[in-house]
Amino acid sequence: MPLAQLDPEIAAVLDGELARQRGTLEMIASENFVPRAILQVQGSVLTNKYAEGYPAKRYYGGCEVVDIAESLAIERALAVFGGDYANVQPHAGAQANAAVLHALASPGDTILGLALPHGGHLTHGMRINFSGRLYNATAYGVDETTHRIEMDQVREAALRERPKVIIAGWSAYPRHLDFEAFRSIADEVGAYLWTDMAHFAGLVAAGLHPNPVPHSDVVSTTVHKTIGGPRSGMILSSRGETLGKKLDSAVFPGQQGGPLMHVVAAKAVAMRIAQTDEFRDRQARTIEGAAILAQRLLADDVRAAGISLVTGGTDVHLVLVDLREAALDGQQAEDLLHAAGITVNRNAVPFDPRPARVTSGLRIGTPALATRGFGAAEFTEVADIIATALVAGAAGRADDDLLAGLRARVAALTEAFPLYDGLEQ
Ligand code: PLP
Repeated sequence: MPLAQLDPEIAAVLDGELARQRGTLEMIASENFVPRAILQVQGSVLTNKYAEGYPAKRYYGGCEVVDIAESLAIERALAVFGGDYANVQPHAGAQANAAVLHALASPGDTILGLALPHGGHLTHGMRINFSGRLYNATAYGVDETTHRIEMDQVREAALRERPKVIIAGWSAYPRHLDFEAFRSIADEVGAYLWTDMAHFAGLVAAGLHPNPVPHSDVVSTTVHKTIGGPRSGMILSSRGETLGKKLDSAVFPGQQGGPLMHVVAAKAVAMRIAQTDEFRDRQARTIEGAAILAQRLLADDVRAAGISLVTGGTDVHLVLVDLREAALDGQQAEDLLHAAGITVNRNAVPFDPRPARVTSGLRIGTPALATRGFGAAEFTEVADIIATALVAGAAGRADDDLLAGLRARVAALTEAFPLYDGLEQ
C-alpha cells in the first residue's frame, strides 16, 4: 500500500520536508543532499537483514549477499582515505566515537580534546556526554587573540594532563589542523592520537585538505556531512594490525548490535562516488563557496555593523560569524536568515559572553549548496543576501519589505537549481 494511503500524516511530513528543502537555501555546515542512488539503497530490502559480526564471520545465517556490500564499503573507504583498516558499521558519528574511546581508553583515563565552546564536539569530552562521564575529560582551547588552535598550547595542555588519548577534530573551526604536530605531541606524551574528521572528510577524500589517516592512530568520521553520503559513521586506521581487532570488537559487540546493512551498502555507494571527478569538483566548489562567503562578510559594510569572522576567514567548507560586537545575537541572526529563506545554525564563538542557547555566532556552510550545483556566481549572490540581511538586522532595518526582497532573491536561486524532481508521495 502506498505510504500516502497507509499513513497520510507521515506522507505529508515527507512532502513538507521535500518542499522545505527545495524552497530554502540549506547552509547548515553538517548537512548535505544525498544522491537518489543513496535514497534508493537506504530504502531497500537490505533494511531487513540482521548481520551481527563482520563479513564471513557473522552470527546470523543468510549474510552471503550483504557481506558483499560491507566488503565493498571497506575496500572503497581504504581506496579513498588510505590506511589499512576500516570499520563501516557505526550507526552514526557519535557511535563511531564511542567505539574509538572504548578501544583506546578505559573508564577513568584522561582524554584531551578541543573545548566544546571553542568548536569541539560533544563526544570529545562534554560533561554530560558519555565521553565526559566515563573518562577524565580535559581540554585545550583556541588562542585568545588568533582564535586558532596553536600547537604550543596543545603541547602545554598535553604535558600538563598526560592524556591517554589526544583528540584532533572539530565541529566548528574554520581552519586546517596540523596533524604532524599533533602526532609529535602524542608521541612525546605517549598518547594515542585520534582524529575525528567528521566535518572535513569530504575535502580530505577529494585531496583538498590534509589527510589525518597517515598521522593518526585512529580516524573517525561521519559519512553524511561534506561527503554527502548516508547518515552514518566510519572508523579508519593505518595501524590495523595492532588496533584493528580492538576497534572491531569496540563497535560490535562493544557498542552496537546488528549493523544497518542498508546504510552500510549506501556507504559503499558514497565511497564509489567519492572517487569520481564530479565529487572532486563538488568539494572544490564547496571550498570556493565558503571563501566567497568569507570575502563578502569581511567587507566594510559588514565590518561597520560590528560583524566579523572567527580567525578572519576560512580554509574549509564553513565560516564562523562572530557577532560579539554586533547588535544582533546568534539566535536573532539565525531567525533573521530563516525569515529570508536561508537555514543556518547559531553557534558559540570562542570566548562567547552569551549563553549557549543564544550564542554570539553563526556557523554557515556550503556543502549542500555545492551539491545542489552552486558555483562562484551563485555563492556570490548567496553571500550578498546573507551580508545584506545581517547588516540590516544589526541596524534594526530588517523590515518586511527588506525580507520580501531577500526571499525573492532566494527563490530565484532555488528555482534555478531544482532538487529531487518527482519525489513527492
Ligand atoms: N564528530 C563531529 C566532529 C561532529 O561534528 C559530529 C556531528 O555533528 C559528530 C561527531 C557526530 O555525528 P552524529 O551526529 O552522526 O552522531
